Amino acid sequence: MNDILPEEVERWHKLEAAFRLHAELHGYAEVRTPLLEPTELFQHQMGETTDVVEKEMYSFERHGDQLTVRPEGTAGAARAYVEHAVHAKEPVTRWYYLGPMFRGERPAKGRYRQFYQAGCELFGDPGPLCDAETIDLVAGFLHRIGVADFVVHVNSLGSAGTRARYREALLAHFAPRKDKLSEDSQRRLERNPLRILDSKDPRDVEAASDAPSILDLLDDADQAHWAGVLRCLDVLGVPYVVDRSLVRGLDYYTRTLFEVKATAGELGSQSALGGGGRYDNMVAGLGGPSVPAIGFAMGMERLLTMMQGEASRRRPGCYLAPLGQVGAERALLLAKQLRDLGVAVELDGRGGRLKAMLRRADSLGARLCVILGDAEIERGVVQIKDLVAHVQEEIPLEGAARVLADRALEFSPGGGQRGAR
Ligand code: AMP
Repeated sequence: MNDILPEEVERWHKLEAAFRLHAELHGYAEVRTPLLEPTELFQHQMGETTDVVEKEMYSFERHGDQLTVRPEGTAGAARAYVEHAVHAKEPVTRWYYLGPMFRGERPAKGRYRQFYQAGCELFGDPGPLCDAETIDLVAGFLHRIGVADFVVHVNSLGSAGTRARYREALLAHFAPRKDKLSEDSQRRLERNPLRILDSKDPRDVEAASDAPSILDLLDDADQAHWAGVLRCLDVLGVPYVVDRSLVRGLDYYTRTLFEVKATAGELGSQSALGGGGRYDNMVAGLGGPSVPAIGFAMGMERLLTMMQGEASRRRPGCYLAPLGQVGAERALLLAKQLRDLGVAVELDGRGGRLKAMLRRADSLGARLCVILGDAEIERGVVQIKDLVAHVQEEIPLEGAARVLADRALEFSPGGGQRGAR
């Protein structure tokens, strides 16, 4: 779990703002659900035999409730959708979220126990058009933040009937090879052979290399949907590869699945930037009506690793450097007046030497340094030093806040934006 210090937070703000804008351009509105949900929500929706549920959840009992700190956002969003009977209010719902998720995984670069996801969930539209639009949303977002080195992998898992037939085909394939599988996969063979396909254990990878593909077993309706998704992706001009081995680690998916992987950069084996898919049965499984859905989540830390741009910090418009007791108290009031006018101000209350204060103003990147000496205040003036234009001048103390605010804000980007950057 990471501390995110202020110099990094600026980049987070940029990423979050870009995601909000992008999601809202696609008609999504933000939803905020609790960090804690009933443990059984994840067990039932993600699947009892998945790695996340078996090994990675932070679960505990408190006040008689079995609770889990959310490992992902989809199940909570679907629970909220059902609980608030949103289907009765609108035919199609588009929600996005941003926030921390928790999985007790072995930490590595790009893999943390608390990590942040940005995701979208769309309820109420079964058609292939919105599958392609969802994939395009993700690819378009990556381009928006300047990430170009990625590949979109797509696959279909079919609907429930197809999945049942696929399960039998996988059992027939793996049962004679049971001894060659990892312990986890031997245990999961009967209950959930699909999970063997996303095991990273070399023994499972070997046994799965010639396993049947679900794409060969799709029924007519699944096949029509799948063809529709690929056609719409072509219409949108989204490059993709069909990846028959893509299953993603959760049980709730139906039909379209996708994952976006970085093809350059420092992420190594943690190259998955995001992924998602259709989950047409979850809403009904939670006691709601039969409402199809599709969604995805991206890992924010991984996106930040791929994004260009230096860390930076908000700069004060004015740095106030008082010399002496009278100056300090006058500076206190001036700082308040400036902030009321929308200027970011830092007041140096340490009572140190002017040189040290100027150095500090410079290192913070302040536009103006205001020197308030006792003698100047007696004469009714203050000195201002423009740290960018390198000029110094004296202005009347009376009305100084207005003059300083005009100067400091004049240089801030975007005109109306408050405080220099
Ligand atoms: P998932 O639905 O599990 O594929 O997660 C979606 C995305 O979240 C992944 O593609 C990663 O970018 C990110 N992610 C998942 N687990 C972690 C983790 N433990 N640490 C950092 N990012 C993660």
